Amino acid sequence: MSLIVEGSIFDVDGARAAYVRFEGERIAEIGQIGTDSTRGRVRRIRGIVAPPPVNSHTHLGDAVSSREPPAISFREMVGPPNGFKFRLLAAAGPKEKREAVRLALGRMVEEGIRAVVDFREEGVAGVRMLRRAAQGLGIRVVALGRPLARPIERAELSELLAIADGVGLASAREESNETRRSVARACHVAKKRYALHASEERRERVNAYLDPRPDLLVHMTHATRADFETVRDAGTSVAVCPRSNALFGRRPALATMEKLGLSVLLGTDNAMLHAPSIWRELEFAYVSSRLFGERVSSGFLARAALIEPWNWLGSPRAARIDPESTVPPLVLRLPADDPAYQIVTRVTEQVIVRPGRRERGA
Ligand SMILES: [Zn+2]
Repeated sequence: MSLIVEGSIFDVDGARAAYVRFEGERIAEIGQIGTDSTRGRVRRIRGIVAPPPVNSHTHLGDAVSSREPPAISFREMVGPPNGFKFRLLAAAGPKEKREAVRLALGRMVEEGIRAVVDFREEGVAGVRMLRRAAQGLGIRVVALGRPLARPIERAELSELLAIADGVGLASAREESNETRRSVARACHVAKKRYALHASEERRERVNAYLDPRPDLLVHMTHATRADFETVRDAGTSVAVCPRSNALFGRRPALATMEKLGLSVLLGTDNAMLHAPSIWRELEFAYVSSRLFGERVSSGFLARAALIEPWNWLGSPRAARIDPESTVPPLVLRLPADDPAYQIVTRVTEQVIVRPGRRERGA
């Protein structure tokens, strides 16, 4: 099954006009429009070819709740150990949670998302449940688990790291220096990732969350310009979740992050608050920045969803459109001009074309 997409490419090298010929879901040929070798024998569509997006921050376990959350403070909502979400998680049965997580993952797959970085609470059992829920769905799940015992118990942590891709902690306000040190050290030794939330509800000292140095910080809604510079110079990436922040009256300083050249990834945060749709997150990020009189470029946001995370995941080839791409690219039936702008503002499930797969209804 061949298909030619004529239009543009958006990838790690930026945007350019091109055609891409697919054989099945793989790229067979790329070139300048009008120079393909097939002489009109192959089905042709107009559109954009880009790396598939990554959802770089979720708490999919909370998908178990589908009702409108009560009007309570941030702390009462998601604060460990007894906030609303933790009571929900504790009250739900394992099967109920697994099915809710599987549904959320399935929805991401339908939207073209090929990897997700999930902060999975509930210790070893929580990570096991996530692994089972994701079986056979065709999405890479990077599970950042959270050990339950404090002080940290070696046995629990090593059992966790045997099945998780790393650890995702609440924040340096909630976890002692000692906990952070032993978690970071164990992650380092096991070659796994260590991540935590930072300066979300209020500003935290940069020395607290950067010591020991994490692979990923989440939110940074109350960070100062100097904090951003320190984080950038430390080489740590930042995952931002503008819709989740907005719900609590906050926002990430995207324009500042862009200006300072931070490595920024985009996520959708708590599944009880928002559908894990990276496209809705992208559009909100773009539009809400204007609401505050700040311009953030569509290229920066598109990179935060489609390019930067693949580098962070250690799969830079997935961020490049060429026949050696390690992950099947995304094809969007959208105008080819200004592809980053189309990607950020106009994607819905209906414009996603899947080469090598029969289209729905066909
Ligand atoms: Zn989070």
